[in-house]
Amino acid sequence: MISKTLTGKKETLVMKFGGTSVGTPEAMRQVVSIVAAEKKNWRNLVVITSALSGVTDLLIDMASGKANLKASAAILQNRHREIADVLIHDQTAREQALLLVNKIIDQIVNLCQAIAILGESTPRIMDTIASAGERMCIYLLAAAIQSAGVAAQPVEADCLIRTDDHYTDAHPDMEKTQELTRLELFPLFSQGIVPVVTGFLAANDKGNITTLGRGGSDYSAALIGAALPADDVWIFTDVDGVMTADPRLILTASTVPVCSYREIAELAYYGAKVLHPKTIRPVIEAGIGLRVCNTFNPAHPGTRLVSELEAQAGIIKAITTVRDLQLITIEGRGMLGVPGVAARTFETVAKSKASVPLITQASSEQSICFAIPSSFADKVVSMLKDVFRQEIEHRDIDRVWATDEVGIVTVVGEGMKSTPGVAGRVCSALGNSRVNVIAIAQGSSEVSISLVVAAAQIQQALQVLHQLIQ
Ligand code: ADP
Ligand code: ASP
Ligand code: MG
Repeated sequence: MISKTLTGKKETLVMKFGGTSVGTPEAMRQVVSIVAAEKKNWRNLVVITSALSGVTDLLIDMASGKANLKASAAILQNRHREIADVLIHDQTAREQALLLVNKIIDQIVNLCQAIAILGESTPRIMDTIASAGERMCIYLLAAAIQSAGVAAQPVEADCLIRTDDHYTDAHPDMEKTQELTRLELFPLFSQGIVPVVTGFLAANDKGNITTLGRGGSDYSAALIGAALPADDVWIFTDVDGVMTADPRLILTASTVPVCSYREIAELAYYGAKVLHPKTIRPVIEAGIGLRVCNTFNPAHPGTRLVSELEAQAGIIKAITTVRDLQLITIEGRGMLGVPGVAARTFETVAKSKASVPLITQASSEQSICFAIPSSFADKVVSMLKDVFRQEIEHRDIDRVWATDEVGIVTVVGEGMKSTPGVAGRVCSALGNSRVNVIAIAQGSSEVSISLVVAAAQIQQALQVLHQLIQ
């Protein structure tokens, strides 16, 4: 239940805007008008923003020597200036915002030059560089909102979100984050000012910048929403909410109006980029509402995420795909007698730093099969052959091998739990269309079924299964 204040306004809303929502003057104009409209409905608003679309990739390319520094710096300056020219009407405010943006660009160029001279970088420096896009964006966006008559102030989230030292994928300390967030944002609320906060970045105890992982601005919104706590967190993107499939791959994909946290967690984990998988937990724990909606179609309700959803029997709600994987199999009739094969296998995979999106083990224990990103396949196969050298010599293990490239197609829906035969329906639909299922696994929460198919058949599998959605 969202509380209302005496003025009839609702209390606190966190709005997060993704890269495409702020990537051009027209897009950012749209963001400014959404913020101005919601300021009339909510007493306290927090705006969280990503970098302009493509900027984080460019910054990482600059740091790794893939992009020319001078040319990239000019691109960054021009893109930000173009927006400032259109949306920041006051000349002094515009010049001040651009001064800050250019200062950040200079800082980044210096760091990238140092990396080039040293010939190496560190995760800590990479985080400082990768997060510069968000830092530049808040100065523009806050000034643009101010220009539209709404009091706004840029806030760099290193003074709000505290994390451990795990650079590039840092873990938040919720207690300290809550203390800092309230300390910084409550005084702004009491003056009616909208904080415009950097997504993606945080800081560790030493004050060094860390980041929350690629796509992590959604997670920033969840953390700040939970810390306040807000009544609602709205994630604004470039499509009408969570859809039945990636609309770039399936043109007939439609919005899923209500989605459970379990469903979205499976979708996000299995490749639906629309929401960062870590976003869900802080929001559930704080009991906050979560909505995914479209910056370019704000009247559309988008998708409302709920903790409990009455399962609709037999319903497949959405389908998602992960590409660029290979299956690795360890097999041998003697494996039954060898203790700890699975433990040693996954210990080895963990050492390679590859993540494993899917595991299947036949109950006969004569084989273990799992998927990993293709870029790790050769390395993992050779590490496993090393680890099991003795077992291979003794013929307890016959083979350790990787398939050609495959993909995972995952069907998601709470209703599958209570409906027998969904897996059968899915497999026969694929069989009838001559899509060969190489392996199958059911998610532990029983709201998803994942099928491994050859890379060349992923799109066909997606199309066939999308037709099963009523
Ligand atoms: P943002 O920059 O706003 O964070 P992202 O690019 O991270 O946006 O995520 C939005 C994109 O996710 C959409 O443009 C869409 O192509 C993609 N996407 C993949 N699967 C889905 C899905 N099931 N529903 C909606 N969007 C999806
Ligand atoms: N800008 C960051 C990225 O591209 C974070 C985000 O957009 O969520 O990964
Ligand atoms: Mg995103």
